[in-house]
Amino acid sequence: MIYIGIGANLGDREKTLQEATGMLNTNPEIAVIAASAVYETAPIGVVDQPYFLNAVLQVYTSLSARNLLNCLLAIERKFGRLRETRWGPRTLDLDILFYGDTVINRPGLQVPHPHLHERAFVLIPLCDLKPDLKHPVLGQSIQFLTESLGTDLPVQKIEGLNLIIKNKTRRT
Ligand code: AMP
Repeated sequence: MIYIGIGANLGDREKTLQEATGMLNTNPEIAVIAASAVYETAPIGVVDQPYFLNAVLQVYTSLSARNLLNCLLAIERKFGRLRETRWGPRTLDLDILFYGDTVINRPGLQVPHPHLHERAFVLIPLCDLKPDLKHPVLGQSIQFLTESLGTDLPVQKIEGLNLIIKNKTRRT
């Protein structure tokens, strides 16, 4: 199973998450099958920037991890993401978190995402979808990794906000 992290902290964050999810789902090679709740999260790294909205999507795809990444980067570009500051604000951020059990360490593509196990804004939404999912490198479950971060994490569920996923005939 493939999981994608999605985040936005500039502009209309909710609209961006919704539109980017829809755009992914319109790709004939990708079917979005589930979405976590949406969370408002404190920025890390450069802390003097707006709060993020984050969620995690579960997808099916017939694309390779590399081609999936290229598709995510193309969607980011459509939202006019500027990559000026590392860890800085972004209109849209899309990351491949897991591509099944596949482990990839290539220039420009690391899977599982190298920081996911230390990021509450990824782990908490992932817990909505698959708490017993095992990290193929660390051998620990998402639930365990989340609990390892402690309590009082700067991640707040936005009640009543759900990403809408249009049903599509699965071709992948
Ligand atoms: P960032 O600015 O932190 O979102 O990093 C984006 C860059 O990270 C992309 O240009 C990718 O080449 C690279 N990258 C490496 N692994 C991944 C991954 N699993 N998902 C998304 N981007 C990745």
